[in-house]
Amino acid sequence: APKNSRKTHVFLPHLVASLEVEQTYIMVKPDGVQRGLVGEIISRFEKKGFKLTGLKLFRCPKELAEEHYKELQSKPFFPKLINYITSGPVVCMAWEGVGVVASARKLIGATNPLQAEPGTIRGDLAVQTGRNVVHGSDSPENGKREIGLWFKEGEICEWIPVQEPWVIE
Ligand code: ADP
Repeated sequence: APKNSRKTHVFLPHLVASLEVEQTYIMVKPDGVQRGLVGEIISRFEKKGFKLTGLKLFRCPKELAEEHYKELQSKPFFPKLINYITSGPVVCMAWEGVGVVASARKLIGATNPLQAEPGTIRGDLAVQTGRNVVHGSDSPENGKREIGLWFKEGEICEWIPVQEPWVIE
């Protein structure tokens, strides 16, 4: 299982021991894949300085989409949402870092792309809520839950980026 509750740091234990390292689940939705935005979206998180720990192209079964979005089950757009998410391959990602959950949400921008700030992924690359190209977990708890849902044991990779001391002092 992914080491989701790791608080200490492998490379810089004296520096990051007191900071909570979080995990978030980021997913390029089928529209992002079809529009050729996979590289662009991965690049935003890479350039920010977060660590990629899981990555795969995946055709999502209906049951998994329903489980992932179960909190929205009662919404009128739920069937449409499940249709959308299962309409083509998605790119599943796990990203790790201090403050990564909230920061990734900021990089992604508001749910409605017309309200998302320029400079955010949705603000720059999308126009409709129903085609907003990317998902990001809304809490560290959901980050863990969603990584557990979308990735199997052994698909999460622990590693130390060589740039790490140049990202975190
Ligand atoms: P976010 O993805 O920004 O966390 P929500 O959790 O509220 O937003 O909704 C999950 C996803 O459901 C959205 O990203 C979007 O794809 C879809 N969605 C939300 N609201 C609507 C809506 N009113 N109409 C169509 N799709 C919606």
